[in-house]
Amino acid sequence: MAEERATQPARSTGRIVKQPGALQPTPNLLDYEATCASFSWDEAARALDGLANNGGLNIAHEAVDRHLLHGRGAKTAIRWLGKGGERREFSYADLAAATNRFANALQSLGVQPGERVFVLMGRLPELYMAVLGALKARCVVTPLFSAFGPEPIAMRAELGDARVLVTTPELYQRKVAGLRERLPGLQHVIVVGETVAEGPGVRAWNEVVETARSDYTIGPTDPESMALLHFTSGTTGRPKGAIHVHAAVLAHHVTGRYALDLHEGDVFWCTADPGWVTGTSYGIIAPLTHGVTNIVVEAEFDAETWYGVLDSEQVSVWYTAPTAIRMMMKLGADAVQAHALPALRFMASVGEPLNPEAVVWGEQAFGLPFHDNWWQTETGGIMVANFAALDILPGSMGRPLPGITAAIVQRDADGHVKPVDQPGVEGELALKTPWPSMMRGYLNEDERYRKCFVDGWYLTGDLAKRDAQGYFWFVGRADDVIKSAGHLIGPFEVESALIEHPAVAEAGVIGKPDPTVGEIVKAFVALKPGYEPSEALRRELLGHARKRLGAAVAPKEIDFRANLPKTRSGKIMRRLLKARELGLPEGDLSTLESDEK
Ligand code: AMP
Repeated sequence: MAEERATQPARSTGRIVKQPGALQPTPNLLDYEATCASFSWDEAARALDGLANNGGLNIAHEAVDRHLLHGRGAKTAIRWLGKGGERREFSYADLAAATNRFANALQSLGVQPGERVFVLMGRLPELYMAVLGALKARCVVTPLFSAFGPEPIAMRAELGDARVLVTTPELYQRKVAGLRERLPGLQHVIVVGETVAEGPGVRAWNEVVETARSDYTIGPTDPESMALLHFTSGTTGRPKGAIHVHAAVLAHHVTGRYALDLHEGDVFWCTADPGWVTGTSYGIIAPLTHGVTNIVVEAEFDAETWYGVLDSEQVSVWYTAPTAIRMMMKLGADAVQAHALPALRFMASVGEPLNPEAVVWGEQAFGLPFHDNWWQTETGGIMVANFAALDILPGSMGRPLPGITAAIVQRDADGHVKPVDQPGVEGELALKTPWPSMMRGYLNEDERYRKCFVDGWYLTGDLAKRDAQGYFWFVGRADDVIKSAGHLIGPFEVESALIEHPAVAEAGVIGKPDPTVGEIVKAFVALKPGYEPSEALRRELLGHARKRLGAAVAPKEIDFRANLPKTRSGKIMRRLLKARELGLPEGDLSTLESDEK
């Protein structure tokens, strides 16, 4: 089977050496050093059109409308595969009309540019229409993960001042209807589906959108105006709303070209949900700016279904994540090899550390390695990648994108930041500012935002190393945030939900390593006087957290403790809870005030 693949790795362990002649089609980034040396964002911007009459830059114009102007209107933009086996194709012209209708619908509801449109639904075609239509209307889009429970939804909608919510009747009834008092600014709820929901400002998609006009002219859009608000989790406090602007589309386009190696004839599939940043930047924007066919699969992960999609849709470029790859590995290579997959030529992975074995397994099972790449909500797009034409060092995240300067930095006693020149030294991964998709702020949290930038570097919060050849290697997070199945989870959010239960006095939440999903959320709780630990109470707390937070965020394990270790200032020492859970050295305990023991 490997013979049918375009890339012929020279050997299956250690460095994976690419033979340039065997790469089909010619990779967009062939000469890494030369491209880095000559790259300029201004020059790269020529690949985009911009709005007519110096109207600025709008993501939706670059992703949709401009293809009509270049004669690609009939090409399939989105091929949607429904859970029940349905298939729907949307050409670029169809998508232009559908997004125009949504933009007109917003206008007729009186929604103004700059107002926030939240989207909470599974991967239905209307999600894509709403996101791109709202961008046309110059509204700010916030996608929410449909597996969130009511609490994460309410918190984000409150912080982000949601004016419009696009959702389904089921999700509305189950998760939002009970929150309306907390969301006085939410004026319009547009529900997609056969059934209807009741509530203030609730309207059916069919009524407001399907009946709207299908022509629309995007108004002048300042490239620096807010386009997307993506919530991400920190160690403490509330989720942070990372602000991204329309100019980010340039980074989406460039990374689509270089890191995902998109060519015009590609059929591309990004498996991430648009509720998370990968599913927006690469599940919607980047592929559409390249005019490729974007596959959208409504169903959740199932290895056999996924192989079926790769096969039946002739996917050529596939962007997925380590948790899914590890689940596929468990099933073995035979399941893959039942499918010929002659079209598949490039596979990439993001979101969490990709084990070297997974890269090598890709070669065995698919005849192609997985190309790991790295980025985060704040960077807006891929920053470090294993590129199509470059050798892969399994376990490494790759090298910086042309146009991006990445370094390992250390702080000195005055808080200044210095890049470390020697290879192999651990430090914080930092990126030289600015770049087009760099976040422009955390909503209403200037101080938190400013702290990310020191001496012209953006500090990522990740620890890493760089080797002598310039490849970056992930070491771990510098903070306590948890990565579970590729999703960033803030321990504070989980602790807050647990503390709302009448039995809980204190809660400390950590990420516990897990061979499949990277980390699972584990909580330690101390009970209030009058409550005793029991199996029944543990189950009740698990249920309570799941109901409030949703399955994606709630803890999978809860342990009881008499007390939790705290610093002198009263902060729970998650680091210590984790070290003890894993039997690791407890480290510096000089700030420890009270202890669980
Ligand atoms: P998010 O903002 O939710 O996309 O999460 C970003 C974080 O995910 C990064 O700061 C890393 O901690 C982690 N991450 C993303 N990609 C990788 C990767 N290729 N290897 C290791 N960790 C990654």
